[in-house]
Amino acid sequence: MRLVFLGPPGVGKGTQAEGLARELQIPHISTGAILRDALGRGTATGLAAKKLMDAGDLVPDAVVVDLVEDRFAEQDAASGWLLDGYPRNLDQGAALDGLLSSLNLTLDHVVFFECDSAELVRRLGGRRVCRKCGSTFHIEFAPPPQSGDCSEGGECEIHQRSDDAEDAILKRLDVYHSETGPLVDHFRSQGRLVVVDGSQSIDQVGVQLRAALERSS
Ligand code: AMP
Repeated sequence: MRLVFLGPPGVGKGTQAEGLARELQIPHISTGAILRDALGRGTATGLAAKKLMDAGDLVPDAVVVDLVEDRFAEQDAASGWLLDGYPRNLDQGAALDGLLSSLNLTLDHVVFFECDSAELVRRLGGRRVCRKCGSTFHIEFAPPPQSGDCSEGGECEIHQRSDDAEDAILKRLDVYHSETGPLVDHFRSQGRLVVVDGSQSIDQVGVQLRAALERSS
């Protein structure tokens, strides 16, 4: 199974991708997570991307195209994958098409999660993440534990992603509309888009997602 998840920042793509990828036993490939990991390890790629990520800008296409190509070459990606956060613009879409045809592969589904901007700002502004285990919380809807509870042992280390600061959120939404919007329209015009309402609860979106995939299979 080869899937692409598209949608604005904060719509819950990552959360849904994690669950579905586990269920389908395919790797969840998030370019944002790969970049954050590279930054955490202090690699040249991570450090070069930091400024752009913190500001809510996209990192250069060539960087993410290479990251994805390398990730596809890993053994666990042979039976499929779920791409989250890539492609993010028309050029990355074309690069993915090129890579797939060179590998003689096709996409099974392109899922688009939609949600209005006011709700996205509310979700992103309140998002908190554990540095150790990666669990995501929300100060209002799913408050982080006061103590303990980290699946990596001890207490969760809660922090706010630097690109969840207010200025960066607005920039990311702007970039999403100008860069990813045309890609969404492109897939829609090809009749390849599976649309899911991302404004509902995590469980409701999960149910809708599975039903939509079932219908379009
Ligand atoms: P995400 O975790 O998907 O919200 O991505 C976090 C940040 O990583 C984005 O705001 C970009 O700076 C960068 N990033 C992730 N994926 C891409 C991509 N496909 N193209 C360019 N930049 C990306």
